[in-house]
Amino acid sequence: MPRYEFRCRTCGDTFELSRPMAESSDPASCPAGHDDTVKLLSAVAVGGSAGSSAPAPGGGGGGCCGGGCCG
Ligand SMILES: [Zn+2]
Repeated sequence: MPRYEFRCRTCGDTFELSRPMAESSDPASCPAGHDDTVKLLSAVAVGGSAGSSAPAPGGGGGGCCGGGCCG
């Protein structure tokens, strides 16, 4: 089941909920009971690979050529 990250606009806390995708847009209450929450667009890791840092698609950062260090 995918996990979704929410942020409470009342107390500023962030929390994760595991819920079916069909309920991904349902309102969520923060652990403190506030209802004014927003769903964050976070990378949902289902299963998960152990600590592999994949290069960011599209470049930008990390590469030598393209960052201006090859000239
Ligand atoms: Zn809250």
